Amino acid sequence: MRAALLDKPGAPLRIADVPEPEPADGQIRLRVHACGVCRTDLHLRDGEVEAGHLPLILGHQIVATDEDGRRVGVPWLAWTDGDCGYCLSGRENLCRHARFTGKDVDGGYAEYTVADERYCFPLPDGMSDVEIAPLLCGGLIGHRALRLAGDGVRLGLYGFGAAAHIICQVALHEGRRVFAFTRADDSEAQALACSLGAEWAGDAMGPGPEPLDAAIIFAPVGELVPAALRATAPGATVVCAGIHMSDIPSFPYRDLWEERVLRSVANLTRADAEEFIALAPEVPVRTTVQEFALDQAEEALTRLRAGAIEGAAVLRITGPPR
Ligand SMILES: [Zn+2]
Ligand SMILES: [Zn+2]
Repeated sequence: MRAALLDKPGAPLRIADVPEPEPADGQIRLRVHACGVCRTDLHLRDGEVEAGHLPLILGHQIVATDEDGRRVGVPWLAWTDGDCGYCLSGRENLCRHARFTGKDVDGGYAEYTVADERYCFPLPDGMSDVEIAPLLCGGLIGHRALRLAGDGVRLGLYGFGAAAHIICQVALHEGRRVFAFTRADDSEAQALACSLGAEWAGDAMGPGPEPLDAAIIFAPVGELVPAALRATAPGATVVCAGIHMSDIPSFPYRDLWEERVLRSVANLTRADAEEFIALAPEVPVRTTVQEFALDQAEEALTRLRAGAIEGAAVLRITGPPR
């Protein structure tokens, strides 16, 4: 099969013909139709997040069909031990032995993949393979971040890419008000945010038009943490939703004072996936997607690094039928 391989961090992905993976016990064989491109893939590509093995097939927003033709999604959480304290308390996202798709096990930048059946979930009709792919990480983990941000009405989204453009729609559906914080000159992201119903879009380093009750930081930029805290009202929660961020500069205690909460969100549970996949058609979430072919995977990552993707990047992968 054709696959995009990460041979070593810092090197461009290499398109190659490799043997099709064979399912082990409990795994199913999947024909990949689309795979979303996540910022985590870029962190793995650039060596900011460590690959579980090399060469590695990236990709953890996999839309595929199993051998019965059933359409399933394969998300970031690939496997957990099921018996540690975290797993037993409903927090399998923090399992100490968790394995992750496209990091510890090969992912979806390929024509075929295998996955543990217990961590795949059925996908609803009504969205195409390419449209639904960004829901599988930006949607799932974005929604976990939104939940953990609390019930605040005035919500700031920092970085308006794949996750934020989905979560903006969910937040509006919940009756919140959305403020989009982007690079000052990113007029395309600002226009996308306003077209989706954000009531304001502007420079992430400055305050918004009014104080925020909650903020989610999707961009991997540590400077945004004190900037977001400064933009909030007392009692607000600021959630860092990414797996990697540049160092956070020091900031005066008064920016955290008055019961502001700063926290991160890590990974997802299967319950998060079920909850979000049921919610998405009710909103209904619509995705803005830029499509790439499998052999353009490196180009998709380059454009993501440059901030040149509107909405979400997705690989459309149509391998030969078996
Ligand atoms: Zn992701
Ligand atoms: Zn565990």
